[in-house]
Amino acid sequence: MSTDRPALKVRRLQDIDVKSKRVIVRVDYNVPMKGGKVVDNRRIRETLPTLKHLLDAGAKVTLVSHLGRPKGKPEEKYSLRPVAPELQKLLGRPVAFCDECVGPKAEAASGALKGGSVLLLENLRFHPGEEGDDAGFAKQLSKHGEVFIQDAFGTLHRAHASTAGIPKHLPGGIGFLVQKELEFLDRAMGNPERPFLAILGGAKVSDKIGVLLKLLERVDSVIIGGGMAYTFLHAQGVSIGKSLLEKDKLGDAQSIVEKAYSRNIQCLLPADHIAVKEIKPEADRVVTQAMAIAPDLIGVDIGPHTLEIFAGEIAKAKTIFWNGPMGVFEMEPFAKGTIEVAKALAKATKRGATTIVGGGDSLAAVDLAKVGTQLSHCSTGGGASLELLEGKVLPGLAALAC
Ligand code: AMP
Repeated sequence: MSTDRPALKVRRLQDIDVKSKRVIVRVDYNVPMKGGKVVDNRRIRETLPTLKHLLDAGAKVTLVSHLGRPKGKPEEKYSLRPVAPELQKLLGRPVAFCDECVGPKAEAASGALKGGSVLLLENLRFHPGEEGDDAGFAKQLSKHGEVFIQDAFGTLHRAHASTAGIPKHLPGGIGFLVQKELEFLDRAMGNPERPFLAILGGAKVSDKIGVLLKLLERVDSVIIGGGMAYTFLHAQGVSIGKSLLEKDKLGDAQSIVEKAYSRNIQCLLPADHIAVKEIKPEADRVVTQAMAIAPDLIGVDIGPHTLEIFAGEIAKAKTIFWNGPMGVFEMEPFAKGTIEVAKALAKATKRGATTIVGGGDSLAAVDLAKVGTQLSHCSTGGGASLELLEGKVLPGLAALAC
């Protein structure tokens, strides 16, 4: 593998003896809920191969996860309880639930598990020790098993008790979901079929500078859209009206464009925009006829000409990585650019390109465009996939290194 990420040797689930063992699995069941029900079970479905493997081996499986941001104390709306029946339905086996994740009650629940059965514990983030990577909390969690399997790709970039802490007490390795994620992202970065195109969007330049710089060492072209594109346009001397601007990132934006130019990498920015006076769905939309935006307007989506240019670039690429929406896609009138990019990626996949999408917003857009099943890989972790592409060592993986 030729990524810059230091090679970490991590054991894989299939190489670990789990037969009849008590196994703790860190999953990412941070799923969207409405009225106490799971509304999108993708993250639960993605863990089924790991769970089935363990249950077939007669393991006693205790699942730990976080949900939302409850700030270290219990909050009913962040309870994982509704996830248990959803998992039970998908798994076709009973799933027990315990309303604690540490302490005597939780230990009794995990201790009572029979071979081939599953227990889901309450939200780890109901305790400050989780995000604080508290050693005592990690030790308490580790009492639920003899082996630890990490299958929460979306949290690998966080040094928390359930990612970096538990492996200090138990042997273990990575589950099938984490393996799949790493394979796709490593393949894209190590040996991509060319042309390799990266599409970055979303609101914040600052979140994406690191990954952009790293991607410029690999890609043949890059598309920058969404709110972050305005900082790049402004750095090029283009008027952007009242659009999103990160003034302190103008220098970075300029040096990224220069770096791309000096390496003969195409760097495509929006050539026209959908602009409004106020960001609200009922606002009158203006299609700017050029790159510049009038002083009283805000760019909220890419324009039709840009869409044509971006779709043309996508049609040429053999490997495509996409993170971040092209506009304020949560509001239907400004979602077209993002949805059309998702559709163009589906078309590219059909003609044999490898397409990888990372990040909650991009995945939501893929669902909106109804092309989720038509892409090569939808990563369950936006932040983790970006940090991996940046070449960073993820704490959740480093903790498992052997
Ligand atoms: P990020 O978390 O940086 O990937 O940003 C995602 C957010 O960017 C979404 O909530 C979008 O609504 C927002 N976004 C995309 N384009 C724009 C834009 N032109 N102006 C303001 N926000 C935007």
